[in-house]
Amino acid sequence: METQMLIGASFIKGEEQEETILNPRSAETILNLPEASPAQIEAAVAAARGAFTTWSRTTPAERSAYLLKIADAIEADGDAFAALESLNCGKPINAVRNDEIPAVVDCFRFFAGAIRNQHGTIAGEYLPGFTSMVRRDAVGVIGSIAPWNYPLMMMAWKLAPAIAGGNTVVFKPSEQTPLTALKMAKLLAGILPEGVVNVILGRGESVGNTLINHPGIDMVSITGDIATGKKVLQAASKSVKRTHLELGGKAPVIVYGDADIDAAVAGIRAFGFYNAGQDCTAACRIYAHKSVYDRFVADLSSAVSSIRYNLADDSENEIGPLISRRQRDRVASFVQRAAETGHVEVTAGGAIPDGSGFYYQPTVVAGSLQSDEIVRREVFGPVVSVTPFGDDDDVVGWANDSDYGLASSVWTKDISTAMAATAGLRYGCTWVNTHFMLCNEMPHGGLKQSGYGKDLSIYALEDYTVVRHVMIAHG
Ligand code: NAD
Repeated sequence: METQMLIGASFIKGEEQEETILNPRSAETILNLPEASPAQIEAAVAAARGAFTTWSRTTPAERSAYLLKIADAIEADGDAFAALESLNCGKPINAVRNDEIPAVVDCFRFFAGAIRNQHGTIAGEYLPGFTSMVRRDAVGVIGSIAPWNYPLMMMAWKLAPAIAGGNTVVFKPSEQTPLTALKMAKLLAGILPEGVVNVILGRGESVGNTLINHPGIDMVSITGDIATGKKVLQAASKSVKRTHLELGGKAPVIVYGDADIDAAVAGIRAFGFYNAGQDCTAACRIYAHKSVYDRFVADLSSAVSSIRYNLADDSENEIGPLISRRQRDRVASFVQRAAETGHVEVTAGGAIPDGSGFYYQPTVVAGSLQSDEIVRREVFGPVVSVTPFGDDDDVVGWANDSDYGLASSVWTKDISTAMAATAGLRYGCTWVNTHFMLCNEMPHGGLKQSGYGKDLSIYALEDYTVVRHVMIAHG
């Protein structure tokens, strides 16, 4: 297991406070890892700055070749990456091996192709005697900060477009889930030139805060909580840094009266509970039409009660535990407060199961109202709420009545209903008769307080590059 940070070409242990890395399935300590000292953060930023001029002037073909090598190396070592991610996050091994590792590999392959296929405004004479052209160039040094729910995938989403675009990076994983980032650091050091990617460890309030305030960082890319995003914006305002913010969600799921209820139930069982609901696009805030509400709640509750977790044979598990005791207790407190309203009914789960890991039972909270906390705040756990709506209710308005704007879905057999709802929803993504499906070619990112800037797709490459105008006078 790698324990050292990557700064330039050197592998170095952190010099400051130790963080205990836990196995969420057992609550046992895996190891303790010290965080970066201020001098080590300085060295990482200096290494990235030092590498920038040379790296940003490599050709797209050269950078593409590096990205393809990275993809091949991850793929070749996919089982070891999957085992480490599963250990650190408690994710079922099959979910990491079969879903996340192929998506990570494909992310590097996608950006390897995309950087060779950029297009834009035609060069020409927009003033007589002057030829104009537009260039797309690297932003500079990116400070990338990742959350704990998909550590390796978020690393791929942040690194691949950044280095494809010619930037260099100082990357900080979540202090709770650094293990695959350290393994990636080792892999990257064997492929990339020195300083192009640097990986440092530490907590948000210490190392993260130093990074986002550092004058040597040109852009901060962060996936995390809204409160953290606001701190990034405050820090960025001091030096007018660019920012790329992916901040949480509370995805509405509208199940109309004509929907295929079996499909909607199966979809929410899968996409509301994947990764134990620790997903910013999780199908968690359901609105079900009154004509199908009773059947829908009954079928969903029964389906959710059948979700398999905490079995000794991990290949049987569909979901894992929450990342930490704190997160598990936070989820439990949301459900407890919902139950205390008196008008909601917990129709599946609703308790912490016996055992030492940070598990919470897959839970359905039915009869919730638009004003309820469980409908308005991000729970980030295996909990969905169901709210009934009638023909006279503005359900799209309810769906939009949220601080968040990341993902949404509508379930109906009527194309007109689907298109009207889709046009009205204020979300970065709307799925029709499905939820949660992502691909590297399509953009992912939010509106409102879910942040701005896109991950994945050609739009991410645009976010990690700047447009420049060059004009040549020729008489
Ligand atoms: P978090 O905001 O606590 O931490 C995210 C990262 O930011 C961590 O690396 C942390 O160390 C760092 N950080 C925290 N405070 C900081 C500070 N003051 N300065 C600099 N860095 C700081 O979030 P989390 O608990 O790790 O992750 C869960 C959150 O992330 C959820 O709200 C979830 O919805 C969101 N999320 C969003 C997306 C998306 O694509 N929009 C994807 C995954 C997770």
